[in-house]
Amino acid sequence: MAKILHNKGECFLSLKDSRLVIEDKRGKVIIIYFRDIIGAVPCLKKNKNHEIDFYFEVRSFGFKQGGCCSCGGPARGERKQRIDIFQCFDSQSYSNWQHAINRAVRHLPVTVGASDSGAGLVQAPPARRVLVVVNPAGGTGTALKIWKRDTEPMLQAADVSYTLLITERANHARDYVAREDVRAFSSVLVIGGDGLIFEVVSGIMSRPDRDVVLKNMPLAPIPGGSGNGLAMSVMFECGEVCTPEIATFVALKGTPALLDVCTATTTSASHFSFLSLSWGMVADVDINSESMRWMGEARFTVSGLGRVIAKKLYRGRLSMLLAEEAGEEGGSSSSSKTAVTRERVVLPAVTQPLQVQGDPRWLVLEDDFAMVWVVQTSHASTSMYTGPGVTLNDGVFTIMVVRDCSRLAMLSLMIKMETGAHFSMPELEVFRARAYRLEPLTSEGLYSLDGEKIEYGPFQAEMLSPSSLQVLKTDSRSPQ
Ligand code: ADP
Ligand code: MG
Repeated sequence: MAKILHNKGECFLSLKDSRLVIEDKRGKVIIIYFRDIIGAVPCLKKNKNHEIDFYFEVRSFGFKQGGCCSCGGPARGERKQRIDIFQCFDSQSYSNWQHAINRAVRHLPVTVGASDSGAGLVQAPPARRVLVVVNPAGGTGTALKIWKRDTEPMLQAADVSYTLLITERANHARDYVAREDVRAFSSVLVIGGDGLIFEVVSGIMSRPDRDVVLKNMPLAPIPGGSGNGLAMSVMFECGEVCTPEIATFVALKGTPALLDVCTATTTSASHFSFLSLSWGMVADVDINSESMRWMGEARFTVSGLGRVIAKKLYRGRLSMLLAEEAGEEGGSSSSSKTAVTRERVVLPAVTQPLQVQGDPRWLVLEDDFAMVWVVQTSHASTSMYTGPGVTLNDGVFTIMVVRDCSRLAMLSLMIKMETGAHFSMPELEVFRARAYRLEPLTSEGLYSLDGEKIEYGPFQAEMLSPSSLQVLKTDSRSPQ
């Protein structure tokens, strides 16, 4: 415990196992949990003699009072930024306190006690440097504003240095990540939409040293596009709201967690995908609404309505290597809980026939489809809960199929997707697979892979197993 000034009043400051404790002279106590603190940094202020005093600030994002739900965990969406200003009496305690707090919030041992008695120096924690990629053309064009308003000040408050790449063209992010030396970065913050993340992932995967980069540089999506499916899915698993500020908080406080990635192959190209593949209604909405980017996520609703009215069916063959044996409920529902094997699947080349006739592990549907939508994450955007129960690392594709159905059912499906209620509609069939192949028998159509248009024709995808792509995640529901 040490005497210090807090917001100009004298107080005692101490570090307890999981928290910073501030006690004023009247005995009033303020507790700030390390899990909510992003860092302590110098705060340049002058006293009335115009001398710089030993001020530092601690920035935290705790849950608002009363924000706890009945299970004892924090309620979603209740974090609020808080800045506490401290003033020390000498330079040594000034740097000791900042280093001690910055070590404690990163779970590093604080080796020398922080005190103002001149007891010794607390070592600074190792420096952190991140790569920040911003797409000024994504979504409603707000990514740069998000960088300036939310992310940059938070990196500074967390004492994290950065290299900034503002993209100048499509594929700029991919080329940068593929060619530059990115091994010194502890993460990559991607401010844009899923298309920008897709570029970063393909850049990493094309590197000869990709295993090192995958291990050292997890992704941190910051929602700044019109399709922010990955950012929303990550925030959802963290129990957080999907805002640029909270996504930056998760980027600073999170630890790496695995994210499923698959190889997606067309006749002439191969891609790495982490989000979804759509064909039929959803792909048409996704790709045909690109000119409406300025609307933000509303582009999907507006374009979707148009697409429901102009009902279209696509004939094709969908072959799926089912992830589980048929359960009691018939095996075609995601509620069938048999364990998933994670054994690597290798399909023949997409131009070669799949010989799966009679193989009980495979299910082949040949029909007219209104849509085939394969998802790897829980959300397709901040307002589309497309995959209830789907997690970032469950190792399977969740395949949603709608064959011919009425316009009303299609509309209802779209509306229910907001809450995940579409999963109980009889028109929707859901399968879980470890690999699949799509062979369109209708000559014209579109595919949307992670929101990007790709070559139409025979297509197949296999989960990479084990996955090595990582995202930063917090476990905000863990006990303090
Ligand atoms: P959205 O969610 O709105 O689609 P994204 O960030 O995913 O936003 O980006 C959309 C597309 O913009 C991606 O295909 C990406 O390759 C491309 N892109 C990236 N940087 C630029 C740029 N500076 N100018 C134009 N297009 C870009
Ligand atoms: Mg998954």
